[in-house]
Amino acid sequence: MSKKIVKRSWAEPFKIKVVEQIKMTTRAVREKAIKEAGYNTFLLRSQDVYIDLLTDSGTNAMSDNQWAGMMIGDEAYAGSRNFYTLWDNVKKYYGMPYFVPTHQGRAAEHIIAQILVKPGDYIPGNMYFTTTRLHQELAGGTFVDIIIDEAHDPQKIHPFKGNVDLNKLDALVKKVGAKNIPYVCIAGPVNMAGGQPVSMANINELSVYCAKHGIKMWFDATRAVENAYFIKLREKGFADKTIAQILKEMLKPFDGLWVSAKKDLMVNIGGIFATRNKKVFDEARNLCVVYEGLHTYGGLAGRDMEAMARGMDEMVDFDTIKARIGQVEYCGNKLKEYGVPIVEPIGGHAVFLDAKKFLPHIKQIEFPAQALTAEIYLDSGVRGMERGIVSAGRNAKTGENNFPKLELVRLTFPRRVYTQAHIDVTVESVASVYENRKSIKGLKMIYEPKYLRFFQGRFEKLK
Ligand SMILES: *Cc1c(COP(=O)(O)O)cnc(C)c1O
Repeated sequence: MSKKIVKRSWAEPFKIKVVEQIKMTTRAVREKAIKEAGYNTFLLRSQDVYIDLLTDSGTNAMSDNQWAGMMIGDEAYAGSRNFYTLWDNVKKYYGMPYFVPTHQGRAAEHIIAQILVKPGDYIPGNMYFTTTRLHQELAGGTFVDIIIDEAHDPQKIHPFKGNVDLNKLDALVKKVGAKNIPYVCIAGPVNMAGGQPVSMANINELSVYCAKHGIKMWFDATRAVENAYFIKLREKGFADKTIAQILKEMLKPFDGLWVSAKKDLMVNIGGIFATRNKKVFDEARNLCVVYEGLHTYGGLAGRDMEAMARGMDEMVDFDTIKARIGQVEYCGNKLKEYGVPIVEPIGGHAVFLDAKKFLPHIKQIEFPAQALTAEIYLDSGVRGMERGIVSAGRNAKTGENNFPKLELVRLTFPRRVYTQAHIDVTVESVASVYENRKSIKGLKMIYEPKYLRFFQGRFEKLK
């Protein structure tokens, strides 16, 4: 009997025009490479990687339209035409009147922390992000996590695990006073929670609370279009709105935002600082000259700004986001078929493996997620990233290790880069490591840099 159609598949709204050769390696080569890298996938050479799921940051494939834009880069030191094109799009899509370009997201985070955070301040946020929190701390502030409890439980199903718990915020306001809270820092989706979105209803409740207490709100809009996509799919009343409409509505209560353009905007470099506040804008422009470059290029070439502007036109396309998030879901669902423990619901930009469940025999201080990341690389040359105790770093005041509830390995998907076959290879590798999990050993840290230790820390295998 011939097969009956049980479902209709979807496919990406683009086809491949240029390819880049990648290299398969032998296990012996990978053994040597990971040892030399101190069991840290950040220290591998990319030529030794087969499928690179380290990050979706700056690793995206640009469209032919973006590449064409690169050719009309206006490289004037001051007043580049591309800067004004980009500014127009910042107004159009993010709804913010004032804009300063920066070389990356963290540069914008640096600027906002320098302007708004005073020593002794507290900055509540829906879970931390590594570079965001560090810049708040370097400015003398203390980060306080106000995300809902569900976010810290990898198996708890909740459509908006990125939501803020207003009781946690209220407790902080009562303890330290609203005047010591320069702003509430919201990200959506929340990277460290597993790419989990925040709901429109939650943003609106937060905004009522903040208005009452005179607290400003700032948004880490690095992956904001993915958040808008989840709102469209999961929140009542948004099914018929476009991504662009939802994005603007989401950002309405915020005083300002920053973006790492290396994510949503599908470029290889760039950052955005945008605000409604003229005074903050004037200060940011001024700091831009100190740290980044003139305020009409902010550490970028004119061609980069053109590619960003065109990437913005593409990022709000529903089918583009659907294909992107659909690929992540495909990977997560396949891993579940093999019984591999992952964070659920499956997030927007990455599948997060639950290393605590995967390797229950390894204590958290022996870095289970770091060890698992190395093991997957050894198996197949697939490169992921640790998002657990190494990434969580140390308490800024006591110097003790932070012990996060989530001990995760992140497999992150660059936009428009890999095919479904690459995902199949990845899934089968992780499933194979899972079958052999009992033989995996923990690690010892032998070098620890002072800041953001996950980037450059080195490890040795325990016997
Ligand atoms: C990547 C990222 C940043 C930092 O941006 P860079 O461009 O890497 O400096 C900040 N916040 C979030 C949520 C990110 O994912």
